[in-house]
Amino acid sequence: MTEQTAIRVGVLGAAGRMGGQTCEAVDAADGMDLVARLDRDDGLDLLAESGAEVVVDFTQPDVVMDHVRWCVENGRHAVVGTSGFDEERLDHVREWLRGVPDVGVLIVPNFSIGAVLMTRFAAEAARFFESVEIIELHHPDKVDAPSGTAHRTAEVVAAARSAAGRPATPDATTTEVGGARGANVDGVRVHSVRLRGLLAHQEVLLGARGETLTIRHDSTHRESFMPGVVAAIRAVRGRPGLTVGLDQILGLT
Ligand code: NAD
Repeated sequence: MTEQTAIRVGVLGAAGRMGGQTCEAVDAADGMDLVARLDRDDGLDLLAESGAEVVVDFTQPDVVMDHVRWCVENGRHAVVGTSGFDEERLDHVREWLRGVPDVGVLIVPNFSIGAVLMTRFAAEAARFFESVEIIELHHPDKVDAPSGTAHRTAEVVAAARSAAGRPATPDATTTEVGGARGANVDGVRVHSVRLRGLLAHQEVLLGARGETLTIRHDSTHRESFMPGVVAAIRAVRGRPGLTVGLDQILGLT
């Protein structure tokens, strides 16, 4: 590919774990130029000056909305890996994109292809089982719980159960030490473990009388996220509006 057609990429959170890995992946990818590596103390005007047309954000939930808004208002496509997007936040992004028909925002709770498949398999299995619970396990430097992936998995599992007319997962608990039964996401219990030595792991446990099915995914290195990040950077310019998740990019829907 010629230099003229290379995608100009800027990375926000470039000094962080995921941002740093993304800079390496963009540097190594064909047809991409890494034109900006910005972190906490760099002004967003540097992004404008760099000519970045696609901005990748791996920062923190408390600042990411400002970044997405800046991208939309400044005509830059955004690929967002930062956690913390609920329906309310997504609605804000949709609102900002209204009247900006050429800009794409791709918000991806998990860039790992194995994790995307885990969520899909869990949604497929959910209607066949009486019980379902999710355990997510991460390194102790993660600031949000439950993980965006666990939250999303719970939502799609709950939707699949609801569509199939499944009642609530049985649970006779009447007394509880606060938090013992985990978070309740759309009626699905989600348990968060934070442990040194781990990276990103998740189990979806499904149970019926006489059998259980466990769907487990492990990211053992941040490299596992990079094929998804690179695919998202390539795709976002051709996808105006808001896209959530990697499924459409991977041709899964
Ligand atoms: P990290 O703490 O290592 O990196 C975050 C970086 O953002 C830091 O360098 C920090 O200085 C920087 N930052 C903070 N505020 C900023 C600002 N206003 N402008 C620019 N930079 C700023 O965290 P991490 O492990 O790299 O994770 C980053 C985010 O990505 C988290 O929300 C995490 O949950 C999420 N994550 C997503 C995926 C996925 O596949 N979608 C995978 C792993 C992590």
